[in-house]
Amino acid sequence: MSRFFSDRYATLVPYVPGEQPQDRRYLKLNTNESPFPPSDGVLAAVNEEGGRLNLYSDPDARALRSRLADSFGVAPDRVIVSNGSDEVLNFAFMAFASEKTPLVFPDITYGFYPVFAELNRLPYTEIPVRDDLSIDPADYIGKGKKTVVIANPNAPTGLFLPLSEIEKIVSGNPDGVVIVDEAYVDFGGESAVPLTAKYDNLLVVGTYSKSRSMAGARLGFGIGNPDLIRDLNTIRNSTNPYNVNRMTLAAGVAALEDDAYYRANCKKIEAAREWTAKKLTALGFTVIPSKANFLFAKTPAIGGEALYLALKERGILIRHFNKPRISDFNRITVGTQEQMETLVAAIETILKEQGGLK
Ligand SMILES: *Cc1c(COP(=O)(O)O)cnc(C)c1O
Repeated sequence: MSRFFSDRYATLVPYVPGEQPQDRRYLKLNTNESPFPPSDGVLAAVNEEGGRLNLYSDPDARALRSRLADSFGVAPDRVIVSNGSDEVLNFAFMAFASEKTPLVFPDITYGFYPVFAELNRLPYTEIPVRDDLSIDPADYIGKGKKTVVIANPNAPTGLFLPLSEIEKIVSGNPDGVVIVDEAYVDFGGESAVPLTAKYDNLLVVGTYSKSRSMAGARLGFGIGNPDLIRDLNTIRNSTNPYNVNRMTLAAGVAALEDDAYYRANCKKIEAAREWTAKKLTALGFTVIPSKANFLFAKTPAIGGEALYLALKERGILIRHFNKPRISDFNRITVGTQEQMETLVAAIETILKEQGGLK
């Protein structure tokens, strides 16, 4: 810290992204990226748009918003796009949470929520998930003016709440905004976007980073009542009106044109997920049932951190969270079937060496 750093941020503990090491080639199963490249249409769109980088991007992102709106069956004034969904989450925290409308979210969830809360000096309460790591929807009903944040499917567990439970949370908090973060919804979940037509307090947040193979392009979106979107645009236009660059806007449109490719990739990932879950269970792991592109698993044979380190030594990265309640677990991104076979073989070897497998 320099002697000039503002008191305001002196105690801020930043979000720690998953490792992106450059020292050697790893099988990266640690940050929930897609193992599949962007579609040919996306590559062509990026290439073409690159020739116009001398010009600012459209601050209203009209082409992309209109195409996204079509794909969700909503009007374009219900859509905002952002530099990754992290950005729209931050905007939503700034816009809707306050001393009078504090945040509530689970104790086990996306690690950026408490960071955005601290960054913006917003009060928040973390509600413990059940012992099986599931969210009890009843804990999020009748919260008055509080701002509720739920990742569905949740991270890092992969557990999913059915739409009927999400609707109870939304209808049970008519005086507070409910933010549903659907980063992983395309791997077997069910989107709450249709509910935004009925409830003016619901903001659904999505991303191109996981199911649409565009983590490096940084593209997210929010869908909700036009008044909520207007508030988010007030924050956005006070921060960075050109928040999404030209190439990413063009890629976002092209990805929607190539929807069939991405849907097929999601199906492959879901199949690889179920295969891996079965294998790990057979090896003695407890595997949380996942509707995301990752598995959350632990075994009595080896500690969470020890398994993470042993795999890293073998060139495979997974994600370990040194956090109470979940430090025995690891979060394993689901890649291709072949990658998962490599992972399972490495785990078998490690367990044998540990004497944890006969
Ligand atoms: C990955 C992730 C995001 C955001 O990712 P972006 O790359 O910023 O779009 C948001 N929420 C959850 C729960 C995530 O796991």
